[in-house]
Amino acid sequence: MKRIVVLDSISDEACRRLEQETGWTVEKRLGLSPEELPTKVDDADVLIIRSATRLTADVIAAARRLKVIARAGIGVDNIDVEAASERGIRVVNTPGATTSSVAELTLGAILSLASSIHAADASVRKGEWKRTEFQGFEIRGKLLGIIGFGRIGREVARLAQAFGMRVVATDPYLEESHVAGVHLHTLEDVLSRADFITLHVPLEEESKGLLGREQLTLMKRGAYLLNLSRGGLVDEDALADLLEAGHLAGCALDTYTTEPPGASIDRLRAHSRTLLLPHIGASTREGQIRVGMELVDNVAKAVKKFMSDRAARLAAEREAQEAGLPAEAGATSELAGDEPQA
Ligand code: NAD
Repeated sequence: MKRIVVLDSISDEACRRLEQETGWTVEKRLGLSPEELPTKVDDADVLIIRSATRLTADVIAAARRLKVIARAGIGVDNIDVEAASERGIRVVNTPGATTSSVAELTLGAILSLASSIHAADASVRKGEWKRTEFQGFEIRGKLLGIIGFGRIGREVARLAQAFGMRVVATDPYLEESHVAGVHLHTLEDVLSRADFITLHVPLEEESKGLLGREQLTLMKRGAYLLNLSRGGLVDEDALADLLEAGHLAGCALDTYTTEPPGASIDRLRAHSRTLLLPHIGASTREGQIRVGMELVDNVAKAVKKFMSDRAARLAAEREAQEAGLPAEAGATSELAGDEPQA
């Protein structure tokens, strides 16, 4: 029996649809510790995760029947993709499902930093009435610098333009921006000119520490930084130093080097002009419905592809046997991965 094992929670509706679309059994095994994981994936043909579970090379090696890894969400930085591709395991995700959710939250954070919405609300709740302290500024006419001009970066640009912001972007992998009114510049140029810098870059080996002390120091005096992308892209200690020194005016973070963050962000917690969110960029009703639908579609496609490749190889093997020829090496190795081996 083929098994889809769900390691991080997805909706019951998505589980039902997965069973309907693939004909395979879906089983939830939630809340496993990293130590337990390798012992609980041996019989899985498909593994489904979100951001919480880490699929290391060891876990992937322990999942001897594994054919597909599905990540409900975008970043695949919690999967050892190299180890998976060495075994011919497909990795699928749901790339476009939460683009609007993250882009809208980014605009919300820019507005909140400009008008201190979050801090003013907290103050009134404490019984205070500090109208002059919370004087804000308009974002119309301000320059937004977007680092990483993919799906989310471009959507943020369109929303920001609707608010009258000017937008520049940087993305070393693009030749042109594809958004009217937005030009691409170097990272240094964008950092030194923008009033707000927002990151929309995946966490990869090359992008780790993208905004270290040196890059953060290049930011314009009085500018604001937003990271609703991934922790690990920004040096949080250097950020705290620059905020305390008054070089940067404020920041909004949804993602942290360690999640949940511990004492390492205490200085950011203590600062009055920081907006700190618990990694909720993708957590909207619409986004999560889309994630479920895209996940089912992409897993079903990967399973169907696996089944048709397998049928083609079996037919080729049968034909070769009938003709008295040896089976192709590739065919046996893929079929061998289909059932547990000793
Ligand atoms: P995308 O792949 O469409 O775009 C990423 C862009 O970053 C690409 O255009 C790529 O060329 C560019 N890039 C890569 N390395 C770069 C670098 N060093 N400097 C500048 N640009 C670089 O991805 P997306 O859908 O826009 O998502 C972006 C990221 O947002 C995801 O990788 C994920 O980490 C994050 N995300 C966060 C949340 C959240 O809950 N806060 C939700 C969804 C996505």
